[in-house]
Amino acid sequence: MRYVTQKGTKDILPSEIHNWQIAEQTFADVCHSFGYEEIRIPTFEQTDLFQRGVGDTTDVVTKEMYTFEDKGGRSITLRPEGTAGVVRSYIEKGMSSLPVPVRMFYNITAFRYEKMAKGRFREFHQFGLEAFGAKGPDIDAEIISVVDVFFRKMGLQNIALHINSIGCPNCRGEYTKLLKDYFRPHVASMCEDCQARFEKNPLRMIDCKVDGGKDIVKNAPRLIDYLCDDCKEHFEGLKARLEAIGISYTIDPNIVRGLDYYTRTVFEFVSENVGTQGTICGGGRYDGLVGTMEGPETPGIGFAMGVERLLLEAEAQGVLKEKPSYVKIYIASMSEAAKIEALKICYALRNAGIGCETDMAGRSFKAQMKYAGKQGIPYLAVIGDDELNSGEVKVKNMADGSETPVKLSGIGEFLAGN
Ligand code: ATP
Ligand code: MG
Repeated sequence: MRYVTQKGTKDILPSEIHNWQIAEQTFADVCHSFGYEEIRIPTFEQTDLFQRGVGDTTDVVTKEMYTFEDKGGRSITLRPEGTAGVVRSYIEKGMSSLPVPVRMFYNITAFRYEKMAKGRFREFHQFGLEAFGAKGPDIDAEIISVVDVFFRKMGLQNIALHINSIGCPNCRGEYTKLLKDYFRPHVASMCEDCQARFEKNPLRMIDCKVDGGKDIVKNAPRLIDYLCDDCKEHFEGLKARLEAIGISYTIDPNIVRGLDYYTRTVFEFVSENVGTQGTICGGGRYDGLVGTMEGPETPGIGFAMGVERLLLEAEAQGVLKEKPSYVKIYIASMSEAAKIEALKICYALRNAGIGCETDMAGRSFKAQMKYAGKQGIPYLAVIGDDELNSGEVKVKNMADGSETPVKLSGIGEFLAGN
């Protein structure tokens, strides 16, 4: 039996992990600089958390969830996204008593049973954040700035910000009627999903992946033209803030986002590079969600970014980083006594935070040298009887071939200064 990775899953290998770690650290640093703190939520939750929290007319819930019964007969679902779990935690842990805004970020795996494509997996990773308790457009502009600053720190350019407002239940009620009247004569010719959406949530017909490009959808009335005064003011406020900060955007009336709980601001960061899956990051306001989940009515806003798509974009833009050399020095040994000394030196160097290696494979002296060269380790020290007697070793800089005599006990100090 030859075991292989399951469809839609992948190994992230040691040869590529450093770019993941850079992205993770950069995202955490940027979030911290805005006052967001990390939350870690469980990988699985009870199924109806997602049915309620994500919305049971969404593709995620109707088609894509990994749901199973556990040995105790509970219906369990692997998280398809992070917001529902964070909202559950916010309510369960009583975070509504904290000063607002309550800001949290996360770095999670997510699971969706989807057809594979470039940038589309069944197990994938998301960076995201949520901010609770602030209803004005300041926080909308803030979370968009987080993404903008993060992209900058990653060296990414030209990722277009698209924004829209999908209003509140007030303006949406009127608009939904209008939309239904508009679609009614066409609905029979639309896809099966749209026929169901027509009854349950006609707004979702706007971002249908099947009918989306067609004129019937393109010419549909646009919610942005029917916003109530409060929603209009909120959207104008967001635009003014983005302009003041200097973040450019385009208004895209067709973004309604896949998830049911969004209100007012919705946005996406879109690239041309990542195959057909161009949306790297999507987010928006969900003022109704905490209440819907039986928590105290609390405005909220957040986004989620696909890390695979982010790194594909970084690759396309040529900004992936070279793997760093964690091991700074190789201590080769020419005898058993020298080997023991090398082990002692390595132990001391590691305690001083300096990466080093010595032979673990019983290699000959020649093979040790070959190994160190192949690994690209920047410094080399060879310990034999002479070095043991004199207590001094030559540390060789492999890049320029220069050698510096250093005390056996002083290697760490020498390397720290180089
Ligand atoms: P799409 O329209 O591409 O299916 P979505 O609207 O389902 O995206 P969200 O639920 O908003 O996506 O998730 C936020 C981000 O997570 C997406 O913009 C994308 O970068 C990433 N993402 C979503 N689904 C996948 C997946 N199956 N594989 C990899 N990344 C994904
Ligand atoms: Mg999707």
